[in-house]
Amino acid sequence: MPNPSSPRQNGQAQSPAVRRTNFEEVAKSLTKQEALLEAERCLHCPTHPCQNSCPVGVHIPDFIAAVKEDNIGKAASEIMKTSLLPAICGRVCPQEKHCEGHCVLKAKFGSVNIGGLERYTADTARAQGVLKAPVPAANTGKKVVCIGSGPSSLACAAELRRAGHDVTVLEALHAYGGVLRYGIPSFRLPREVINKEVETVQSMGVHFKTDVLVGATVKLADLRKEYDAIYIGSGAGLPMMLGIPGENAVGVYSANEFLTRINLMQAYKFPQTDTPIQVGKHVIVLGGGNSAMDAARCAMRLQPQSVTIAYRRSREEMPARAAEVEHAQEESVQFEFLVTPKEVVKDENNRVTGLRCTRNELGEPDAKGRRRPVEIPGSEFVMPADTIIVAIGQRPNPTISKTTPDLKVTERGVIELNDKGETSLPGVFAGGDIIRGGATVLLAMKDGIEAAQKINAYLEGK
Ligand code: FAD
Ligand code: SF4
Repeated sequence: MPNPSSPRQNGQAQSPAVRRTNFEEVAKSLTKQEALLEAERCLHCPTHPCQNSCPVGVHIPDFIAAVKEDNIGKAASEIMKTSLLPAICGRVCPQEKHCEGHCVLKAKFGSVNIGGLERYTADTARAQGVLKAPVPAANTGKKVVCIGSGPSSLACAAELRRAGHDVTVLEALHAYGGVLRYGIPSFRLPREVINKEVETVQSMGVHFKTDVLVGATVKLADLRKEYDAIYIGSGAGLPMMLGIPGENAVGVYSANEFLTRINLMQAYKFPQTDTPIQVGKHVIVLGGGNSAMDAARCAMRLQPQSVTIAYRRSREEMPARAAEVEHAQEESVQFEFLVTPKEVVKDENNRVTGLRCTRNELGEPDAKGRRRPVEIPGSEFVMPADTIIVAIGQRPNPTISKTTPDLKVTERGVIELNDKGETSLPGVFAGGDIIRGGATVLLAMKDGIEAAQKINAYLEGK
């Protein structure tokens, strides 16, 4: 019999005082005993609202039922029917907005820890050697290329290979995974987990190539001659800056550069690695999303005296995952809400010494329903800083669109799709952050899977 009222099993985590000093994973996987207790809480609702609200429709009650029977191979294969990145999604998906946010137990007892169970299933199945990649259909003789190796392209490539096509992934960097690797830190998502999930896609026979920047190394027009169809999953890797005076001072980073140095180049291990990073005594991070939390928590691990997140709205409007905000607070990251940066203050050597800001109050809601920040006259103040990290969003990199004049993009550089979900070029499809301008891992995967279905239909008619 299900036991929904037993306490939710959240698993163990490194203590805040210890984890502030290392880049090891913060949250531990559920133990077998915790996972069995947690699986017992699920009611296996016939209408499965959890599954309906998952962007890729993971078979949640079915995989949890298999966990309850301690049949991990079956649990993993239930998840793998719709998602080939379960160890990643179990760790970084915003479950509170999707599956767990719609669990029927939420109000009375607390949602089932679906993310924790997904992660437990993937990690245990892999350790036991029972996590099996889908077997591809017979070769179709069609060749497809996926540009970028973030979650969107990985999901698309796996689906296309499942259908029997010859699939190649081209990646501009020297390592695979997109934001998963260069943006999300190892203390949230260990590099080994990314490697293993990429290996699963490779084991299906998908070919991977690094150091190929499409638009420079090779043009999209050339790829169109070589391949029967193309998927563009090149993400949104171009940082947005504030445009305030002093922003070019030494000590100002975009979150993109700061996180890439730490996560991709492993600057926190300098001088064992080639890339250095220094933060000084006081760090200010500007923004309220996942990038801001990741930048602040990485900066904290470099052991300055203070790290402060400055956000122009209040806590309620912050778009970051709730768990990341809590973890940042536990790690002594401070928050200054309702402030707008006006000027980077610097010394005679062009080095940052502070940030001039004004205070805000909340006004009328904007188009997204978030209340607008309104400046309070005469509220100016200066926060001391040696390092300022700007984490206010990213845009698509224009390398492909600039070298492909027929590919329609919006003013913000986002690739335009017609009502059938196609780009302006026949046989060229796109998804993930390059069409959304910034979203989540699961939405990027959903786009990749849906585009693969469209590509299958397109190739059938070719
Ligand atoms: P990306 O992950 O950006 O991958 C695109 C890839 O394409 C990159 O590897 C890039 O190098 C490559 N590329 C670009 N141009 C070219 C080219 N011309 N030729 C070849 N390759 C190219 N979402 C969550 O759900 N949970 C989180 O906790 C979370 N945390 C985040 C933290 C940070 C710091 C950031 C920045 C984002 C976070 N997100 C999170 C959002 C999520 O990571 C993205 O929405 C998702 O990765 C988008 O996937 P994608 O495949 O479209 O693009
Ligand atoms: Fe289980 Fe909650 Fe989904 Fe119902 S909504 S099947 S209780 S996880």
